[in-house]
Amino acid sequence: MEWAIFADVHGNLDALEAVLADARAAGAGRYACLGDIVGYGAEPDACCERVRALGCAAVVRGNHDHACSHRTSLAWFNPRAAEAARWTREHLSEENRAWLRTLPYRAVAAGAALVHGSLFEPPHWDYVVDTASARRHFERQRTETAFVGHSHVPCLFALRAGRVLGFRPPATPLVLDPGAGKYLVNVGSVGQPRDGDPHACYCLYDPEAHAVEWRRVEYDAEAAARKIRAAGLPDVLAARLLIGR
Ligand code: ZN
Repeated sequence: MEWAIFADVHGNLDALEAVLADARAAGAGRYACLGDIVGYGAEPDACCERVRALGCAAVVRGNHDHACSHRTSLAWFNPRAAEAARWTREHLSEENRAWLRTLPYRAVAAGAALVHGSLFEPPHWDYVVDTASARRHFERQRTETAFVGHSHVPCLFALRAGRVLGFRPPATPLVLDPGAGKYLVNVGSVGQPRDGDPHACYCLYDPEAHAVEWRRVEYDAEAAARKIRAAGLPDVLAARLLIGR
């Protein structure tokens, strides 16, 4: 059974619908969401509804899900993220806010560990962006494979014979070799890619074959950008969707 594993939707319903259509067409039958369903984009409530209706095997909490559903300080967000979080707090239904508050920091599905940022103290939202941060994560990883989001940059880290290696995602499906070590897959971002490619990004995963495929999906980013501007959210949040930065 193929799994669709996705992260960082960030209130971008246009990107989410395109990803789900692509996953369905590719034969995905199970879903897992790695958090940050809301924050930045103009349709946080609709994205929550869509993810909840999917019947995901697991949905874990992202830092924006947390910030937008709690009255915590936003001092550790950059000014644009904080402004978007304040807007999102005002535009989330009570029901979706309550649902976001129930999300766990970590989960296991398809035999893999799922966490938004890193298994190194998940409530502190560590970013896995280099071999040092990947090593901190691997020290806590008990499964052969783990999936994360958070950086919005798709990539792969492997732990082999004590060495941590980083890879860019290949264009074709990759078969992991669990006997050779542990793997950490960053699935990229559905709703706000930051690797220079504006296409929505997510992963298909076949746990029996240990096969991972990073998928890039075209969607109407102009429409998502128009909604951000119409909502009065910071313009840069609209502009960045068109360049994937
Ligand atoms: Zn995010």
